[in-house]
Amino acid sequence: MNKSDSDAPVLVLTGGSRGIGRAVALALARQGWRICFSYIENSAAAEETLALVRAVGGQVLAVRADVGSHADTKKLFQAAIDAFGRVDALVNNAGIIGEPRSIFDADEAHLSAVFRANVLGSFFCVSEAARWMSTQKGGRGGAIVNMSSAAARHGGMVNESHYAASKGAIDSFTIAMAKELAPHGIRVNAVRPGLISTEIHAIHGGQELVERLGPTVPIGRAGTAEEVAEVVAFLVGPLSSYVHGALIDVSGGR
Ligand code: NAP
Repeated sequence: MNKSDSDAPVLVLTGGSRGIGRAVALALARQGWRICFSYIENSAAAEETLALVRAVGGQVLAVRADVGSHADTKKLFQAAIDAFGRVDALVNNAGIIGEPRSIFDADEAHLSAVFRANVLGSFFCVSEAARWMSTQKGGRGGAIVNMSSAAARHGGMVNESHYAASKGAIDSFTIAMAKELAPHGIRVNAVRPGLISTEIHAIHGGQELVERLGPTVPIGRAGTAEEVAEVVAFLVGPLSSYVHGALIDVSGGR
């Protein structure tokens, strides 16, 4: 994309410091997007993403903001507006698995933490994005991609019903938002990754688990963050102009 800075579209991305989020930042920066991404605590990883995006010529900003806090998500979007003047897309990527826990050990703090990050965070960010992008409120319209999971349909790994259910909520939310936000010029879709090799798996076995389960995936291996990012980039961009309310599996057939 060869546009002047002020013409270049702006992406707000949650959880851009590591994993799939970092790959999304890089994929869209290469296409000329300006990026404002959030992280929650890993400043060193956020600095690495900033350096990687700048190395491909991207304009990028990192904001420490907990997606589970509505105040923080307002701060994130305001930072994007202050730096770049507009918002054209949101990728709702930040998420956690939470410690494996049987339903016999259901715990309020554990469930609250997972649903706060995965579900409330998505509601808060879509609310802010809609405010800035709505064609009925002076915006230019845009695209939203929510990060669901294949766990939403297969129920997730053993003792991870909390995670699967939080992603099931994202699927329903995506379909509802596609209806509500279409009149505002905003397309809404979700991506459902399968087993992707990132640090999110540290909580239940790490790389050893990824390597053990990889061969059980129909395609024969775990996926990469980049393979998910390419689909996200397609859904954010103009080539997907008639894709709306879709839940796209990127799961190697799992
Ligand atoms: P990851 O490597 O663990 O990265 C998670 C990212 O989210 C980090 O940037 C982290 O920031 C950020 N984050 C976590 N909680 C946050 C919060 N409350 N507020 C703001 N940022 C927060 O995870 P990933 O594998 O890339 O996963 C990204 C998304 O894909 C998640 O929604 C996950 O559920 C989904 N997904 C992943 C897989 C997979 O196999 N990897 C499969 C299906 C779906 P810090 O760096 O500051 O901690």
